Amino acid sequence: MGLTERLLDTVSEPALAAEPAARPRRALAVLTCMDPRVDPLAALGLRREDAHVLRNAGGMVTSDVIESLSVSQRMLGTREIVVLHHTGCAGLGARAHGRRAEPALREAVRTIIAARRIPHRDQVHGLLLDTATGRVREVTGPAAQPPHPAAATHGPGAAHPVPGTHQCAWCHRPFAPTGRSRWRHSGAYCGDLCRLAARRAKGAHH
Ligand code: ZN
Repeated sequence: MGLTERLLDTVSEPALAAEPAARPRRALAVLTCMDPRVDPLAALGLRREDAHVLRNAGGMVTSDVIESLSVSQRMLGTREIVVLHHTGCAGLGARAHGRRAEPALREAVRTIIAARRIPHRDQVHGLLLDTATGRVREVTGPAAQPPHPAAATHGPGAAHPVPGTHQCAWCHRPFAPTGRSRWRHSGAYCGDLCRLAARRAKGAHH
């Protein structure tokens, strides 16, 4: 008996019965690597039903990935995209010819932002997972794009955000509490990812 047949034999009935809704609950799509050390749900503090998860060697933005992200947003209501790369990635090494993790991640995010088939590209985050420590940090996000004119006067180093904006307690980016994305207005954080990241960090310290 092959491995797949043995796995199918052990699929439990409750697992099949608990079929999740087709629309991800957090309106999120995650692109990551097929590396077995990467558990994207655990890394981001998500449940299975929260997000679409796309995986390939290196977590690279192929035409197939762009098509899937387009379907994810157009038909299944997702708005935010996370590209989760990791340290020591063999897939990235093989496919991007030894390109280092951070430049490859930035390029992946840029490719998504340039993909006009994907309707919503204002919340694309590039996160890097350190497979040795399990820590995730944001390498590139909306702040890396040319600043919005209204935000240009208060960069990350500004002590006081201009009136009418908030400063994210995690990434220190200014954000408008009345943003289009419903995930932006989650209290002190500019988005759901920052809220999750802060919660994870808090958990790690206690
Ligand atoms: Zn990898």
